[in-house]
Amino acid sequence: MMADTGDLHGSCLCGGIRYRAALPVFHASHCYCTMCQKQHGAGAGSYANVASAGLVIEQGAELITEYASSDDGRRDFCRVCGSTLFWRSTQSPDRIAVTLGTLEPEYTGPVKRELFVETKPAWLPRA
Ligand SMILES: [Zn+2]
Ligand SMILES: [Zn+2]
Repeated sequence: MMADTGDLHGSCLCGGIRYRAALPVFHASHCYCTMCQKQHGAGAGSYANVASAGLVIEQGAELITEYASSDDGRRDFCRVCGSTLFWRSTQSPDRIAVTLGTLEPEYTGPVKRELFVETKPAWLPRA
């Protein structure tokens, strides 16, 4: 079980960007949409949804590059190492999703949502 208070901590592959995000996590998800697959170069984008007001960029804010992947979708990544960091919607400015793979220590909460399962790749391991 994860605590409801405190912070998640994360960083990118090169270590240039460090951030923290205040708990609680409202929900965590694996998203199999084709945009997440492309951006992550992987079978899914895995995210924890938190309050945007609790996100603090502790280091390397100047390295964060944002890509508008749709009218309202914004995807933030490190311009040096390419790590995917955040996803947000301009229609829900109070929330932001942080990538589970950039969290340190490892995320230990539940991941209850699977999104866009209709485009989940067949080459992912089966449960
Ligand atoms: Zn980096
Ligand atoms: Zn997605």
